[in-house]
Amino acid sequence: MMALDSALDWQQIMAAVERAVMPHIGAGKVADYIPALACIDPRKFGMAVALRDGTMRCLGDADERFSVQSISKVFTLALTLQRVGEALWDAVGREPSGSSFNSIVQLEAEKGIPRNPLINAGAIATTDRLVHSYGGGQAGAWEAMDDLLDTARRLAGDQNIDIDCDVAESESQSGSRNRALAHFMASFGNMKNPVEDSLSAYFCHCSIAISCRQLARAALFLAFDGFDPVTGEEVLSKERCQRILAIMMMSGHYDNSGEFAYRIGLPGKSGVGGGILVVAPGHGTVAVWSPGLNQAGTSMVGSIALEELVRQTGWSVFG
Ligand code: GLN
Repeated sequence: MMALDSALDWQQIMAAVERAVMPHIGAGKVADYIPALACIDPRKFGMAVALRDGTMRCLGDADERFSVQSISKVFTLALTLQRVGEALWDAVGREPSGSSFNSIVQLEAEKGIPRNPLINAGAIATTDRLVHSYGGGQAGAWEAMDDLLDTARRLAGDQNIDIDCDVAESESQSGSRNRALAHFMASFGNMKNPVEDSLSAYFCHCSIAISCRQLARAALFLAFDGFDPVTGEEVLSKERCQRILAIMMMSGHYDNSGEFAYRIGLPGKSGVGGGILVVAPGHGTVAVWSPGLNQAGTSMVGSIALEELVRQTGWSVFG
């Protein structure tokens, strides 16, 4: 039978996670298509678990900030749904893609409507709607950037979260594929702003530098029906929260989403910076970071750590 959270022995759990990851530290391939990410030490490993009462259980490099990359897509989605509501679903779908994160192939057949908000094309379309909700153009893009950063800081209760301008610049300079996706969607009329304005906000969101501790804390509302369990703030309605988790479960890891659901059994989101965020509804959140990736762009050691964590805690959305 599954132990109650209050009965979990965190010292023993964290020791088991550490034992599981140690033989694999350094495994996987650091993302190098964004040059600023290529120089990160692949042997880094950190994990933070945030619990209902706001207490944290941390391991390794949990306080070192890393590039949030596509994990930002969850926060962009939440913010955009709050600002534009259900109209977002005219711009983007809710189906898993089964394709890589930056794939363009489905966009032509599906007339410029990306499969979901957690692939690059879908996140760019979502960001475009967020920018539009602030009046559009470059001014709207600045507001969209600030809003996400302020939201992350507020939810984490920590002002020490920033956009890493070197990473943002590097992303922009190497952003041909994302530009292609955005222009392709624009050709179908699915961008409301000049492509470069929406992309500038998208690149900045991806370039936020955040630690595992900050990320797990900022996302805690997702584990408690949209309410921050510590401050009581209603960040999202329960229904919206459940729906974001459904999208994370089905699409959080691109063409690795099925494997991730099979091994970990919790809604999550990966980023090519090597971070993974998972949500254990009713229990808490886990952020893990290790830069070496598998072929789908999911942290290899991070996945191993999460697999051991759910084995130890019994946390799963499947009972
Ligand atoms: N910023 C990255 C990109 O646009 C995000 C990809 C990812 O983390 N999967 O390619």
